[in-house]
Amino acid sequence: MADQTLAQKFAYHHHLLEQKGVTLVAVSKTKPTETLQSAYDAGCRIFGENKVQEMVAKAEALPKDIQWHLIGHLQKNKIKYIAPFVSMIHGVDSWELLEAIHRQAAKNNRVIDCLLQVHIAEEETKFGFSTEDLGKSWSDQPWAEWTGIRLRGLMGMASFTEDTAQVRGEFQTLKTLFDTLSKRPDMPGRFLWDTLSMGMSGDWPIAVEEGSTMVRIGSSIFGSR
Ligand SMILES: *Cc1c(COP(=O)(O)O)cnc(C)c1O
Repeated sequence: MADQTLAQKFAYHHHLLEQKGVTLVAVSKTKPTETLQSAYDAGCRIFGENKVQEMVAKAEALPKDIQWHLIGHLQKNKIKYIAPFVSMIHGVDSWELLEAIHRQAAKNNRVIDCLLQVHIAEEETKFGFSTEDLGKSWSDQPWAEWTGIRLRGLMGMASFTEDTAQVRGEFQTLKTLFDTLSKRPDMPGRFLWDTLSMGMSGDWPIAVEEGSTMVRIGSSIFGSR
């Protein structure tokens, strides 16, 4: 693998995942624009970034048919910079943030695809809904008013551990929640509940076995950061 070019590494992952019907988000954070252009030339059209300023600068410099996915934590006051072009926001971790995205999207006459981030790992973090809270607080939200967002599904990160049984269990928890929410009678018809974003360089084969429809792969394609 070490001797493979970026184009070969992208093609390897892309083809494997395509056969399984799984979407590949190439996580290009911290990498220079020229590196992203090389991936683009190899056929990559979906890039994931975790910082707003970095994504804006790269989007300005690179071809316009790229779909930009924001995968990191998003602050409310920065939504306006990405609202004109962002394709999907993976890290929605509060209802307040979702409403703020709706407002900025509406200002741009857009509908932005969003994933709710769920905290499934054992590590402490202040980001993400808990599985319990998400089910409970779902029906309190004014879905009909939030015309600027379209919920597509869930995103989660498993624990950073060698214990594959634990990682698998966490992915199973997320998949179960994804299926449960999809059957909610109050799921607005205009939502497209089709995306389960789970799996990174170290754990994506397990995630795909457990029902992932979208993986976010950085270092296995672009090298270590
Ligand atoms: C950096 C990052 C990834 C990609 O991580 P790799 O281990 O490099 O594949 C995926 N998801 C999120 C949310 C990230 O921040």
